[in-house]
Amino acid sequence: MRRALELARKAEGDTSPNPMVGAVIVREGTIVGEGYHQRAGLPHAEIEALRSAGEAARGATLYVTLEPCNHHGRTPPCTEAIIEAGLARVVYAVPDPNPQVAGGGHRRLQEAGIAVVGGLCAEEAQHLNRFFFHHVQSGQPYVVAKFAMSLDGKIATRTGHSQWITGETARARAHSLRRRVDAILVGVDTVLADNPLLTTRLPDIAAPKHPLRVVLDSAGAPAGCAGPLARHARPDAHCHHRRHAPCV
Ligand SMILES: [Zn+2]
Repeated sequence: MRRALELARKAEGDTSPNPMVGAVIVREGTIVGEGYHQRAGLPHAEIEALRSAGEAARGATLYVTLEPCNHHGRTPPCTEAIIEAGLARVVYAVPDPNPQVAGGGHRRLQEAGIAVVGGLCAEEAQHLNRFFFHHVQSGQPYVVAKFAMSLDGKIATRTGHSQWITGETARARAHSLRRRVDAILVGVDTVLADNPLLTTRLPDIAAPKHPLRVVLDSAGAPAGCAGPLARHARPDAHCHHRRHAPCV
């Protein structure tokens, strides 16, 4: 299951609105197949693992970080593929939280004569997909408040001249967080004072995913967004703000 969690994590930031899921197929103590869900619309982790195992999946055990789905979404249900492949046992970490399908995958596999066990490494798996679980269970987005603060509780120097009060490590962490979220929200004053790009910049990733940029402006004037941004934004950021950041 630890290997399955490791595989799931490979798609961090790429699977929204789906969760990250990893799967490993083991036969007689040897890994014969593995896979993970790479992006919404692409095959689920179980299918990737079954494909990589081929015939070796017959009579084997599947370890998967989320209860296999039993419903037709953008892809057919994984339960049917698991049954067809002849797996003997399925071990999953956490139940599918979606109220419409909760427990359905577990039941369907059991009815087909497969031994099913849930709850292995549940805490790790829950933590890995905390954004997803929170959203499905509450209907609310998972919100992360991120700010840099000095020891005396300030977010900038008195003159406002320092562009950053953090070091490189903190900034790298902020960019890695941007990659994992769907949207980033700032007040219009931040845009006017700092003119941030709000993009994801990670040296190891050539084309990282950028969050949707949202600017809050209490003045709410029809031209309130484009106006100040057009005046203050850098030429390269300007069009992005207008194109991607709705004024709310
Ligand atoms: Zn599935």
